[in-house]
Amino acid sequence: MLRPHDNLRVDGGRLWASIMAMAEIGATAKGGSNRQTLTDLDREGRALFRRWCEAAGAGVRQDDMGCQIARRDGLNNDLPPVVVGSHLDTQPTGGKFDGVAGVLSGLELLRTLDEHGITTDHPIEVVNWTNEEGCRFAPAMLASGVYAGVFAKDFAYGRTDAEGRAFGEELARIDAVGDEPCTPRPIKAFLELHIEQGPILEAENVPIGVVTGGQGIIWLDVAIVGRESHAGTTPMDRRRDALVAAAGVVTGLRELALAHPPGVATVGELNLGLGSRNTIPGSARFTVDLRHPDAATLAQLEEGCRHLVAQESGGQHCTFTIDEVAHTPPVVFDPLCIDAVRRAAEDLGLAHREIISGAGHDAFYVARTAPTSMIFIPCKDGISHNEEESTEPNEVEAGANVLLQAVLDLARGEG
Ligand SMILES: [Zn+2]
Repeated sequence: MLRPHDNLRVDGGRLWASIMAMAEIGATAKGGSNRQTLTDLDREGRALFRRWCEAAGAGVRQDDMGCQIARRDGLNNDLPPVVVGSHLDTQPTGGKFDGVAGVLSGLELLRTLDEHGITTDHPIEVVNWTNEEGCRFAPAMLASGVYAGVFAKDFAYGRTDAEGRAFGEELARIDAVGDEPCTPRPIKAFLELHIEQGPILEAENVPIGVVTGGQGIIWLDVAIVGRESHAGTTPMDRRRDALVAAAGVVTGLRELALAHPPGVATVGELNLGLGSRNTIPGSARFTVDLRHPDAATLAQLEEGCRHLVAQESGGQHCTFTIDEVAHTPPVVFDPLCIDAVRRAAEDLGLAHREIISGAGHDAFYVARTAPTSMIFIPCKDGISHNEEESTEPNEVEAGANVLLQAVLDLARGEG
């Protein structure tokens, strides 16, 4: 059965032009954008977004974490809004699409409804979450984290950048401190459109990823301690070589992850202290990053990693310590929101597949407070956080149409 507005489509050309215009703010030589959070350029990008939203008939307010919230009233404003959003801040070597595609698809949704004079039952809001990237002020997803109660506002305000400037001061400096507290409010559903930042959709030639959740992440700091000794005079069987033990852990972790698909394991940093060509390494400190979408399997990966460290250290007569520095459980999105995205893709005749997000997103924190899901669109070679990040106009348009139809679906009142 055809529902009202089933034939409604976004203006793909207008959406593309807006993404290109936003990319001009902080444009880099290699075709990307450097528009880091709470800089003068971010202020400029925010002002442009506000002007665009207001021109589309939406009021824009700000919360005390600087998140911009554009609102299109519904027929019944006592109903909780359907909210979409992502982020306009970028990495130093950011692309044009990471975050921006999601926020501006939301803008395009407002424009499309305005242009056709359509008022939904539930209000609709589009959010630009502050400091998603975390490159200037760690950690990432700071504002959505405050929103979800994961971080305190004072903690966020006190975060400093490399020059020692505090988040709270910079927020005030660019006039981004709103009256509304950044705390959970009733939300009917939250949807975030984002580029995949991975290679799967492109490789399978599938335009729409129906995101069912996100991987859990465990970060460990491992220190293996052996004994420095002379590289020429210490026989092989008398050594306590911390690096040989660490190497066993690195290769063992690879096997472990391969045995638990789609798990991933990475040793991204390794420090040998004062290394020397003719001294056996006496200590090896390294990081471990473990990810899996299933909580029980993620726990098995951690268990396996701890066992590996003990075994390899023992083999080299070394001691060891393991500290867990972060543990983010897997995110499971809301079945009704996932269904709304899948149905929209189906009704639009777009090929789609279920997908798990490998990267973190604002939607992960929002999911702790409201029914949530995400829409992924392909990006060339899976490259992101890179000025060469690229996606095609028709791919953005397809994603925005899925967003539009899913929102129209979710914004219908009961009965
Ligand atoms: Zn992003």
